[in-house]
Amino acid sequence: MYLVSFNHENTNDWIRTLDLESTDLDYKFSVMHKVHELLIDWKGKAVRDINAHTWQTFKTIYRALKPNYRTDLQNANVQRQKEWDTDSQIGPLFRAVELGGEVGEILNVVKKLERERMGIAGSRDTIEHLEQEIADGYISLGLIAMEYNIDVPKAIAKKFNSTSNANGLKTKLIIPV
Ligand SMILES: [Mg+2]
Repeated sequence: MYLVSFNHENTNDWIRTLDLESTDLDYKFSVMHKVHELLIDWKGKAVRDINAHTWQTFKTIYRALKPNYRTDLQNANVQRQKEWDTDSQIGPLFRAVELGGEVGEILNVVKKLERERMGIAGSRDTIEHLEQEIADGYISLGLIAMEYNIDVPKAIAKKFNSTSNANGLKTKLIIPV
């Protein structure tokens, strides 16, 4: 059973109207959302019965339009480290310690939020601060991945799906091309 609106002819008409050169992030998100909808059936499973031509077209759209976490964060990390660590002294051990520090900062904020929730005396913290520390954690993970040339979005999708498979769960991520 496939999504009622999944129809190769209509889909191809829609594809022809797309602006693959757009740099508008909201536009990219809306197109990718539609592609995602088209690739998922009503039970939330990935649609496998797509003809080769349509599949290639989707891949082209995906490459052209995806808001690219890998390119944006990973390239920015590489670029910024050239400014920051001008002699390229930093290596994986530093990155691992850095990540541990950032995870500790996340946990410390959560501890204080939990303390407030339970009404126990002591210092407080905010969700805004948690947001910043979670961002630091993601950036640190990206920096470790950078040391080993790991494609983070692809690694996440593959591992997420293998865990779903191992536990008989239907929720899957689309693996980036
Ligand atoms: Mg931090």
